Amino acid sequence: MTDRLYYTDPYLQTFDATVETAERRGDRLLVTLDRTAFYPTSGGQPFDTGTLGAWSVVDVIDQDDGSIAHVVEIGSRPGPLDPASAGPEGPALRLERRTRLHGIIDWPRRFDHMQQHTGQHVLSAAFDRVFGVRTVSFHLGAAASTIDLAREMMPAEIAAAEAEANRIVWEDRPVAIRFVSAEDAATLPLRKEPVRGGTLRLIDVEGFDLSACGGTHVARTGGIGVVAVASWERFKGGQRIEFLCGGRALGRFRSLRETTTASVRLLSVLPEELPASIERLQAEAKDQQRAIAALQTELSRFRAEELAAGAAQVRLRPDATEARLVLRAVDADANGLKALASAITAKPGFVVVLLSASTPALVVVARSADVSLAAHQALSALTTKFGGRGGGKPELAQGGGLEAPAQAIFDAARAAIVASS
Ligand SMILES: [Zn+2]
Repeated sequence: MTDRLYYTDPYLQTFDATVETAERRGDRLLVTLDRTAFYPTSGGQPFDTGTLGAWSVVDVIDQDDGSIAHVVEIGSRPGPLDPASAGPEGPALRLERRTRLHGIIDWPRRFDHMQQHTGQHVLSAAFDRVFGVRTVSFHLGAAASTIDLAREMMPAEIAAAEAEANRIVWEDRPVAIRFVSAEDAATLPLRKEPVRGGTLRLIDVEGFDLSACGGTHVARTGGIGVVAVASWERFKGGQRIEFLCGGRALGRFRSLRETTTASVRLLSVLPEELPASIERLQAEAKDQQRAIAALQTELSRFRAEELAAGAAQVRLRPDATEARLVLRAVDADANGLKALASAITAKPGFVVVLLSASTPALVVVARSADVSLAAHQALSALTTKFGGRGGGKPELAQGGGLEAPAQAIFDAARAAIVASS
């Protein structure tokens, strides 16, 4: 059993302890001590980091036998525990039973966890007291924390619980640690049924919340700073609430301030005008797209006229019927090519082969309704020769991925379509 110094003094940042076991696992060492201020991952709160002697603590594990294992990376610090006695196998082997070690907790990380964890007690208690809604689980993440509530909540209810939590924070109430027997605990108004028996450690937010908890908490609610709900979503029939306390809330405020400042500068509006201004921009963009589409339709009609006017009279395979052939490269995408080809072949007597200006090329082969050419067969002759793929119907076929200069494709198209004289 490791003596958990954080149970009674969560503000303890440094301590001295004696090694009880040191077990090598690959490039890591699992060290147990007679006492520790390092918090192991448990109850939704992540482990502490810091140093033990010259070693970096990279994980802290709550073991089944009641001991706490400190995981240190042997490769993490080349400096030996005792430089004079470092052997060829490195300093790891100097960590033996009864070695005295000085431990230092990474305090900013731990204090952040204390703020989030105590804030969670207060926020969960606020939902419980104001709306009778239980917290079914809690997760303290690296960037944000969540609680899962037993039912869905209205935004106004969430705001009311958030306000109540902050009232308690700003009243700066004491947060006491009490140890009681399971029998005594049964007579106390605990927010949640304790999961274990024996002596229970209770966290008592004066006059507001009493919960059995093994985590680390600030000594007064004022230390939480602020409880800010960042977002919420439906989750398993209940409500998941993402919240930030203290320093994390300030960090989020700063990042929102930066993005807001950048956005208002771009749009030259006040922050509260941002949504309306984005809506206006979206509406304008939609209008412009509609106008461009209309112009493109009109433009392709003009282009169609121009291309049709320049078309040469040819005799088609296989029966030497006459048609006017348009062979052109056009700066357009697949839809643009198709629209243009359709505009030309809307008139009787045309065969059209349009290529995109891009490489590899897109191609559209089309004909008027009164012309007896199989456009899909002509296209297939082109993709067979130049690669790429495509397909379609006798009146219109399109393809892409043709790897050849435009002139070579035109020559092949002419050979496939026009009867030799
Ligand atoms: Zn707690």
